[in-house]
Amino acid sequence: MILVFNWKMNPEKLSDAEAILDFLRFAQDKLKKTCTETQSVEVWFAPPNLYFEPLRKKYNEFFDFGLQNTFYEQSGAFTGEISPKMAKNIGVEFVILGHSERKKLGESLEDINKKVLASLEVGLRVILCFGENVKLKSRENIIFEIKSQLKILLQDVPINSENLYLAYEPAWAISSQEIGPSSTEELKTFLDWYWQNYKFPIFYGGSVDSSNIENYLTLKLNGFLIGSASLKPEEITKILNIASK
Ligand code: PGA
Repeated sequence: MILVFNWKMNPEKLSDAEAILDFLRFAQDKLKKTCTETQSVEVWFAPPNLYFEPLRKKYNEFFDFGLQNTFYEQSGAFTGEISPKMAKNIGVEFVILGHSERKKLGESLEDINKKVLASLEVGLRVILCFGENVKLKSRENIIFEIKSQLKILLQDVPINSENLYLAYEPAWAISSQEIGPSSTEELKTFLDWYWQNYKFPIFYGGSVDSSNIENYLTLKLNGFLIGSASLKPEEITKILNIASK
């Protein structure tokens, strides 16, 4: 089981980020990169880029650290971008690509596909996000939408890519107060279809917290991508406890 905590553009100060990780570190002396006592749980954090290096230096022994994006070229005149090769060279272990919040800012499926290929090429672990933007009613429509996205996102990606993880994150379910997360039944229907068609490990993301993660643990998921709850140390501790049972 892999728990990926996506901090998005938070917290405002590095010291706040350290406070969260210190809390986790000391609140649970059991907490190690891998809890082997019962269910094995890996903990991966995706902080904002600026915090990556100081956090990795200080907490590398306890957690894996990655980025929330990388570019599709390895070097060159691309102001403001970070290449997968640079990321790899500085110790980045994984990268989240294609998050729906980045798509809202204009990232296309074709660009994301190029980013996936460039990151896999240098040996980064990739978490590739996909999912419907709006809540669709029929199973056929959902599958049609997802299939069309994955066709572009996975173009030229070898089917035996060991470093590729998919994250099913319906945009309507992300940080959602109104519609809420995907129900266990909805997710099960999706997963039944997914495992008939793909072999990459699969995570779910969308309003996962300590109140609902237990329900999802019965499903054939390899992990979770968690946003809002990942800035609350007590929440993370509860989530970890539930997931390691
Ligand atoms: P959320 O975010 O847990 O706040 O819904 C998930 C994500 O953005 O990856």
